[in-house]
Amino acid sequence: MSLSDELYRETILDHYHNPRNQGEMDGATVEVEGVNPLCGDELTLFLDVAEGSIKDIKIKSRGCSINTASGSMMTELMAGLPLERAQELVDLFKFMMLNKDETVELPEEMEDLEALQGVKKYPVRIKCALLPWNTLLEGIETARESEAGKPVKGKTVSTE
Ligand code: ZN
Repeated sequence: MSLSDELYRETILDHYHNPRNQGEMDGATVEVEGVNPLCGDELTLFLDVAEGSIKDIKIKSRGCSINTASGSMMTELMAGLPLERAQELVDLFKFMMLNKDETVELPEEMEDLEALQGVKKYPVRIKCALLPWNTLLEGIETARESEAGKPVKGKTVSTE
């Protein structure tokens, strides 16, 4: 294993064992479930969206290490961002994960997420890594469509 593989592995394990922003949120304006039947990953995403920005984000992960670590890193990145910027970063992450042929450079604030590039070698695990992000996309869309301040539940996101 190369040094960078080793560092990547440590980053993923750190987020898996100590996932950030875990749990339910009181007063969430948007709640979305995500499932990945292929692996058995399940998660619930909670967003507090006000004035077009993600004021707070929490995730309740019941998934594998890749899924949990990916969701944990995503919450760290997204807190405080305008919905538009959040969507750009989701698109960028998805582009990185689905671009099998090259290494994609990410902006500095997404540095830790490069650890997940190693997963690209295992097509089945890509879905584990993408689930939180696809769930967030549904959450962003739901937040845009909902009336301000009214709690809503988005459609369940499935990788199938
Ligand atoms: Zn998984």
